[in-house]
This record gives sequence, C-alpha cells and structure tokens, in this order.
Amino acid sequence: KKAADLAAAFEPATTRDGHNVEVVANIGGIEDARKGMTLGAEGVGLLRSEFLYLDRSTAPTEDEQTQIYSDISAALNGHPLIIRTLDVGGDKPLAYLPMPREENPMLGIRGVRIGLDRPEILRTQVRAILRAGKTGKIRMMFPMIATLDEIRSVKGLVEEERAKLPDAGDVELGIMVEVPAAAVLARQFAREVSFFSIGTNDLTQYGLAMDRGHPKLGAKADAMNPAILRLIALTVEGADAEGKWVGVCGGMASDPQAVPILVGLGVKELSVSVPAIPAIKAAVRARAFAECQTLAQQALAQGTAAEVRALVQSDD
Ligand code: PEP
Ligand code: MG
Repeated sequence: KKAADLAAAFEPATTRDGHNVEVVANIGGIEDARKGMTLGAEGVGLLRSEFLYLDRSTAPTEDEQTQIYSDISAALNGHPLIIRTLDVGGDKPLAYLPMPREENPMLGIRGVRIGLDRPEILRTQVRAILRAGKTGKIRMMFPMIATLDEIRSVKGLVEEERAKLPDAGDVELGIMVEVPAAAVLARQFAREVSFFSIGTNDLTQYGLAMDRGHPKLGAKADAMNPAILRLIALTVEGADAEGKWVGVCGGMASDPQAVPILVGLGVKELSVSVPAIPAIKAAVRARAFAECQTLAQQALAQGTAAEVRALVQSDD
C-alpha cells in the first residue's frame, strides 16, 4: 500500500474520465521547491518572491536574483516555475524602499502598483527573471492587476528590459486575478497575457469587502461564497474565449472540498501549499470531470458558502 501510494504521488492528477489537472506548488524559496517535488508537485505555480526582499537593508541585486531563480528552476527537473514579482505594500514596508503611511494600505500602493510607482526595483527583478528564463521553463506573473493600463504599462517595461538584454529567455507573462475588476473584464485581460492565476485570498477579500486578516471577518471570508465562484467562472469564460488557461493559486486550491468545483468551472492548474499536494491530487482523482461540471453549475446557483459546502459533501 505504501509503495503504491508513493508511485501514485508522481502520477498526474487525472479525473476518472481522463481529464488532466496540473497540481503544482506554492513556494517561498528553494527548500519548499525541493519538498514539493518529493510530494509529487508538477512544478511551481506561485513563487512568492517577497522572501528575497524582506529582512534586509538593501535590495537584492540582479545577479543574486538570477542565480536564485535559476537554482529553483533547476530543482524542478524541467517543470515550469511561475515567479510572481514583488508583492508588498504600505502595510509591509521595506527598509530600502520607504513608503508613505496610508490610510487604507490594502487599497493603496501595493502589488504591481509599487513596481509602476517606483520602477527601479521592478526593472531589476524583471531582468533577473528574463535572464533566468534562459536556463529553465520560467513564467513571470504580476500581482494585484486591476486595470488594463497597469498590465499594458508593465508589459512595456518588460519589453524595454528584454530589448536591452543580450541573453533573455522566452518567458511568458501572466497576471494574478485577485481584484474583482480583472475577473469581470477577463476577456480583455486575456488578450494581453498568456495565462491567469486566480488569487482567491485577495479576490475574496476584495469581492466581499472583508479584511482577510481581520479577527472577526477572516473566517467569514470564504472563497466558496457563490459570489466569488461567479467571479471565478467569469475569469475562466474570458480566458477560454481567447484560448488562454487559468490556474488558482489562492488558499482555495488547497481545500479538497473546493477542488471539484474549481475543476468543474474549467480551472486547469491548482497551485497549492506543499503539504496539501497529495490530498489535492487525490481529490482530483476521486471524481469524473462531467460530475465536477454539474456540481460547479449547482454551486453557482447556491446562496451561501455553507450551502455550497453542504452540496459538495452530499455529493461525495
Ligand atoms: C492570493 O491573494 O490569493 C494570493 C495567492 O496571493 P497572496 O496570498 O500572497 O496575497
Ligand atoms: Mg494576493
């Protein structure tokens, strides 16, 4: 039984009727990448690059970053690595990047807005990712995109850096869909990038207007709320219409109850916390895709997250 479990860990996650879903890891550094590979991850769907920037007095250099991204990529044995550019904000200031205090840091200069406001740090990171892309299968992803102007500006910045580099790799660009506006306008965004990854933590926070870290609201901010499921459905619809793929890298992807719904809504990649990899693969294998599609449609018609969860359980 143990040997069979171990063998299954490295098999792809396929529904009973043969529909394949990529299960990849959310990581914060190379140790997580190595651990993820031992648990059957098929790559990395979210490298939170913040770890390179926090707790130090100067920004990481281009060479330093190129090395780290290449090392992580090498640890994945040819599997893809999605690097999310720096995602900090007024609530998490960096010593070498003083930011004015903000009344509403969650609605302020955070995510890609920092990169556009203070482009030097983003330019350095973009160059490092493009160079590392020469050594492995690397994709670049931007956090907190809310408007088309933002993604167009950031693409312009990437193209300027690419043009200056003699050794840039073929790196696809994607965005996190974690602001409701990006979900609603998914089709327009899909024309700009190669892929989407839904950040359900922030999408839920902004969709329900509930602070994800609030002691009284955090638990109510459940991504299984049908309002959030509808935003996810809209995202997939927009991407499909332009032939692009959608993953989910928020905490929802690590919730086995959410898996059949996400798969049924057409999500192709689940990027999950390292320890959750085996359970999420098992959840994909437990059902048929056709069943997941029916369940997803029923979930969209519910009124509350609790009703959606009851529906999934009764269908088990
Ligand atoms: C998210 O918002 O769902 C996400 C994956 O990003 P983070 O949790 O790092 O904000
Ligand atoms: Mg987020």
